[in-house]
Amino acid sequence: MQIKRVRLTGFKSFVDPADLVIEPGLTGVVGPNGCGKSNLLEALRWTMGENSARSLRGAGMEDVIFAGTATRPPRDFAEVSILLDTDAGEEAEVVRRIERGAGSAYRIDGRDVRAKDVQLLFADAATGAHSPALVSQNRIGAVIAAKPADRRAMLEEAAGIAGLHVRRRDAEAR
Ligand code: ATP
Ligand code: MG
Repeated sequence: MQIKRVRLTGFKSFVDPADLVIEPGLTGVVGPNGCGKSNLLEALRWTMGENSARSLRGAGMEDVIFAGTATRPPRDFAEVSILLDTDAGEEAEVVRRIERGAGSAYRIDGRDVRAKDVQLLFADAATGAHSPALVSQNRIGAVIAAKPADRRAMLEEAAGIAGLHVRRRDAEAR
């Protein structure tokens, strides 16, 4: 699975519509403190089905909506679209939108879907809102402080090979 484009509107500090094209290969996100790097990663996790406002550094889910600044009024909705190539070789667009007082909704290719459908689409080990491949800033300390065996487990999970060991142990026990 490959993310090709992320489009954000009214999500946290991304008040104006922003289109980010992601080329194949390694992508780095750089910029000064407070420019929105973590907000971008949170936009990806939110669209993939993250339902914990706290893990998005908010008190409630509506905190992802642009809250206004000294010069700009708040917005009443936030929307993020992820355009991706699926492993089946097809293009798919996943959209999550939240409106103040009305909750959030998901669409895949323009069709209304459940959160579960989006979570299933991103269900392999390398993607998804709770993927170990997405390490938030405040979790980096935990990765560094982990015992070697635990850290190895995290890396194996991120690499999508954790299941192989389970299956090997299972096979050896027979
Ligand atoms: P650092 O390098 O320090 O980690 P960063 O690039 O990761 O910085 P973010 O944490 O993504 O920065 O962005 C923080 C900015 O986003 C703050 O200025 C904060 O006010 C703004 N922000 C967060 N939520 C909202 C919101 N709902 N509405 C408007 N601005 C918001
Ligand atoms: Mg950050």
